[in-house]
Amino acid sequence: MARFYLTTAIDYANGDPHLGHALEKIGADAICRFHRQMGDDVWFLIGMDEHGQKVARTAAEAGLEPQAFVDRVAERFTATWRVLGISHDQFIRTSTPTHHEAVQRLLDRIFATNPDDFYERSYTGMYCVGCESFKQPADIVDGKCTLHPTRTLEEVTERNWFFRLSRYAPALKAHLAAHPEFLAPATRRNEILALLDQGLDDISASRSRFAWGVPFPRPLSTGEPQTTYVWFDALPNYWTAQFFPGSKAEWPATVHVVGKDITRFHTVIWPAMLMAAGLPLPERVWAHGFISLGGERFSKSAGVKLELDEAIARFGTDAFRYYLLRDIPFDGDGSFSWERFEAVYTSELANGIGNLASRTTAMIEKYCAGVVPAGAAGDVDTADLADYAAARRALDGSRGFLVHEALEAIQRTIGRANQHIQDTKPWALAKDPANRAQLERVLATLARQLARQAVYLAPVMPEKAEALWRALGGPGTAGGTKFVTAERIDCTGWRVSKGEGLFPRPEPTGLR
Ligand SMILES: [Zn+2]
Repeated sequence: MARFYLTTAIDYANGDPHLGHALEKIGADAICRFHRQMGDDVWFLIGMDEHGQKVARTAAEAGLEPQAFVDRVAERFTATWRVLGISHDQFIRTSTPTHHEAVQRLLDRIFATNPDDFYERSYTGMYCVGCESFKQPADIVDGKCTLHPTRTLEEVTERNWFFRLSRYAPALKAHLAAHPEFLAPATRRNEILALLDQGLDDISASRSRFAWGVPFPRPLSTGEPQTTYVWFDALPNYWTAQFFPGSKAEWPATVHVVGKDITRFHTVIWPAMLMAAGLPLPERVWAHGFISLGGERFSKSAGVKLELDEAIARFGTDAFRYYLLRDIPFDGDGSFSWERFEAVYTSELANGIGNLASRTTAMIEKYCAGVVPAGAAGDVDTADLADYAAARRALDGSRGFLVHEALEAIQRTIGRANQHIQDTKPWALAKDPANRAQLERVLATLARQLARQAVYLAPVMPEKAEALWRALGGPGTAGGTKFVTAERIDCTGWRVSKGEGLFPRPEPTGLR
């Protein structure tokens, strides 16, 4: 069994979950579920990034201690992941003592392995509280951070521990050259290569005058204790996860799924820290794009938001998961629209797989007393299997993690099944007993097609896939069925039940 350890970015605990968080977790969840059905030994880590100045300030504004504040935020996030059916194996929180101790262990390891990599230095710069980092002139427009135009940059002077990031540029370049899969999609790799060509500046690894974080393991030579800079505390979560009781996380991670805005932290700072500590690097970093609403990026500070609950309630959790993953390419940017959501729901779920399932089970009930007849596989099956091979290639990592491509391949099998009904007209075949063998072969084919669709849609629509599987009378569960089993599935003798429609046609609501 191949080991598959996937992490997402840990979410910053200064606000509520929004559509951008949801897209990342749903995409990562589909990838993990997919790999479980490939037969891989999956460990799926998500969590919360709970330290930093911004969190401490937001907590103070809410009149709470930071810990009490992040406890509440973590509850809101976990409640959302529950509603969205996220199947993570571990939820890490950076405010926990196990994480603190392990971060200190990692920093000590850098001190021990490369003693020159940390040094003391005074620094004055323009600090963005939104990014929790000093901004370079190129990232400042009109005196504001380009990512946080509503925040004021602060001039900050501090004596801190610094990390000698500059010395890792050649090693990072060599790693990217030797392992093109380390960072994908290619657009993101090119950005990072360009950045490395310019050379790297050393970065601050600790903060003064600020207590909400992991104590840096060594005081300054002045004796002043410092707090670990939030990125030096957050990034190691992927490594510290293995030290939590019950965790089966095994370093290195197979893939870090992160937003394209934090690629630099994951492909420059984090691997440099690991090199400094003499630890292996993650196998790959997959950078997904942004989801926007009316062309604007979701962000708390820019005030662009959409009520997640409202979007989930529109057609249910699984339809929401399907729409996002089908319509927003997981290697690029996309935009949420109520009109598109309704159009995709109607054409692909209600009129697509939903209609196919209800027609097929109705015909099996009517013509075969509800029992799937025997019928040999044919051209339709061969064509379907080619599409499923394409779906697996889209998600096995060989070309990245292209969830939208996998769904497109599955969608082709649904179109093929509906076409098969039109071409063969089972209701006409049923009129003449001489056509009985052909009728049974058509219905057996349709049942097999639906069974495979249930198995392959389970990573994206876990509940609807089970409802379909139950309607077909399949053994066990769709999500528990390995793809290799689905390839040679035979539904002969399954007892179907029509049940309620999988995806009721939407009530007309008018456009929003
Ligand atoms: Zn910023």
